[in-house]
Amino acid sequence: MIFDGKIYSQLREVKLAEEVASLQALGIMPKLIDILADNSPESKLYATLKEKFAKKIGVTFEIHHFDGSATEQIIADVQKANEDASVHGIMLQLPVVDEEKIVAAIDPRKDVDCLTPENLGLIMSRNIRFLPATVRAVVEIIKEAKNYLPESGRLTDENKWLAGKNVVIIGASIIVGKPLAILLSDAGATVTICRSTTINLSEFTLNADILVSATGAVELVKKEMVKRGAIVIDVGISKLLRDGKFRVVGDVDQSVAEKTSFLTPVPGGVGPVTVVSLFENLVESIKIK
Ligand code: NAD
Repeated sequence: MIFDGKIYSQLREVKLAEEVASLQALGIMPKLIDILADNSPESKLYATLKEKFAKKIGVTFEIHHFDGSATEQIIADVQKANEDASVHGIMLQLPVVDEEKIVAAIDPRKDVDCLTPENLGLIMSRNIRFLPATVRAVVEIIKEAKNYLPESGRLTDENKWLAGKNVVIIGASIIVGKPLAILLSDAGATVTICRSTTINLSEFTLNADILVSATGAVELVKKEMVKRGAIVIDVGISKLLRDGKFRVVGDVDQSVAEKTSFLTPVPGGVGPVTVVSLFENLVESIKIK
């Protein structure tokens, strides 16, 4: 099974558009601000993709452009958005210079991409306010994919929906690997986090019922490293010059599909689900208030 993130997202997009319309009928115009202080084509592309999606579902989306070194101006802009009742969400396109200082300025109640220490801490205490959009996307996809794995005994607690499963996550970033590891562990899985300092990656990955790779290392995961029948989720996004053209590729070599029961492609896998997840965070945060 090769997951189709575009089709999967379309269903959720319809529901989101309906929810936005209901909020608008109540006089609430959902609004998200994206701080863009990185000049890379990738960051600009991510911001534009979100902008297009926002337009489709009726959310007001503002990209605030800054020079990478304008930390004080960015913080002032974030503080203004914190105070502005018409702004419901603030997100920061990473990477950014002085990330920690800028993130600290975001009001955690408007931190819909879950970057602030407060919101990340709430995940640790199982009192979740937001999930990072990518983490939310990966968890939803694993829920879909789980039907492709053999059952592992009687389920005693429905919250432990990954009881008995071995999960390996490659990549330990604060926006993907670490929060995802906590969530999947709380769901009953035995979780291993690997990173660039891991020696003999295959030793771990071969044991994974579910393998998530989030590194940006092009085609890091090869067929020989994957257990037959595994679920493989490719979060990585890199640009590669191949046959004279720039192509978007993931962390996983496509030959891996010969062994997996479920695989997410790049592009068209986790990416579109992440975009929907971000806006689900936004709309849910308004509904809760
Ligand atoms: P990051 O740079 O913050 O972290 C990368 C992690 O990967 C680190 O823990 C590092 O130790 C590990 N790593 C790097 N090379 C490795 C290797 N060769 N072997 C083992 N581990 C290795 O990155 P990030 O912000 O978490 O993003 C990771 C990737 O996911 C990037 O390609 C990014 O573009 C992509 N991404 C995709 C989405 C999406 O929606 N699909 C969202 C966020 C990030």
